[in-house]
Amino acid sequence: MVNNIELTVMSLLKNLICPECGTVHHAEVINTVCTNEACKSTLFAQYNLNTGINKSILQGREATMWRYREFLPVIDEKNIVTLGEGFTPMIPVENLKSFIGDNVVFWKDESGNPTGSFKARGISVAVSKAKELGIQTIATPTAGNAGGALAAYASRGGMKAIVYMPRQTPKVFKDECRLYGADLVEIDGNISDCGKLVNEHAQLNNWFQVSTLKEPYRLEGKKTMGFEIAEQFNWQLPDVIFYPTGGGTGLIGIWKAFDELEQLGWIGSKRPRMVAVQSKSCDGIVKAFHAGQYVSEFADGGFTIANGLRVPKPYADKVILKVLRESRGTAITISDEEMSVALKEIARHEGMLIAPEGAALWQAFKKLKHTGWIKPEEKVLLINTGNGYKYLENINI
Ligand SMILES: *Cc1c(COP(=O)(O)O)cnc(C)c1O
Ligand SMILES: [Zn+2]
Repeated sequence: MVNNIELTVMSLLKNLICPECGTVHHAEVINTVCTNEACKSTLFAQYNLNTGINKSILQGREATMWRYREFLPVIDEKNIVTLGEGFTPMIPVENLKSFIGDNVVFWKDESGNPTGSFKARGISVAVSKAKELGIQTIATPTAGNAGGALAAYASRGGMKAIVYMPRQTPKVFKDECRLYGADLVEIDGNISDCGKLVNEHAQLNNWFQVSTLKEPYRLEGKKTMGFEIAEQFNWQLPDVIFYPTGGGTGLIGIWKAFDELEQLGWIGSKRPRMVAVQSKSCDGIVKAFHAGQYVSEFADGGFTIANGLRVPKPYADKVILKVLRESRGTAITISDEEMSVALKEIARHEGMLIAPEGAALWQAFKKLKHTGWIKPEEKVLLINTGNGYKYLENINI
């Protein structure tokens, strides 16, 4: 039985479901958000997980996120557009032990992904599925990393990418888009302004949009971080996971992965507490979480060195807040100054030049350890989402 699945079925994709109104959407056609005008929610892919499939299927598979192909939405293997993304290393904190005491703290280091960030995961799946559905032109608003990833994967897949990016983004993020052959549109404004314009222009020109959580499959790519966390920790999840939250795709994706793994019977019901870390500049989720609200308010305090965190109003704010509460997690803001200090401390002592978004987590960890929210001997995972080399323009050395 298990062998048959392995030989004849690649993806176990069943359909898509709206988490708000429950409407089921067919997966054979192009989808964006829920077609029910009242919710327009992000759609979640659902899989046939009650097949008795065993985790031994993973043995000997390639060290990329496509080792979990049964739980990804691409039906025909020939449509997979890959540059070797995923299966990134778990790196323990080694020399900064004075800060961690009895805690065990690991980085999941996403900086080695193609185009230098974990955006490669989501974009690889979204571009592959778009190719499978016959789409040729893909557009996105971006704070930086998603644009570079889309440009690279569209190039690889023989498709056209159109990227809208704030003019204030460091030059390297723009140059890489152009080098990969994308059309780059620079906007005087933030990612929300980019999003509005892409939406208008996409409708006029019939481009497909892959804005964060407004199409279903970037989430599926980011979900693979959750599978890796479980597999690399030998199916024992950590106690706390810190995540730098912009649009929230990774946070929601990791949570979805744990749910699917439990349905498969590969892990139990124990879950980590999830911590959303935001920049002081865009702290809508932190404010809403601590005020006990179910949606966030638009919040944009301007420039931050962590471009990936300048998301004034995440599209899936309700889902992010739900995950934080369900997990008994929390949310915390970090200033640019603190991120800069952390980035340098980690580079100097740990040999890792991480993105400011990742560096924010180190400060957040120290603060929550200090207040006692993190207990001694808890196992903690920090997700470094990107490569610091792309941000050097933003850092005073
Ligand atoms: C996009 C991005 C984030 C935020 O990710 P979301 O899944 O949108 O919350 C964090 N860090 C980096 C480096 C990013 O590029
Ligand atoms: Zn709905």
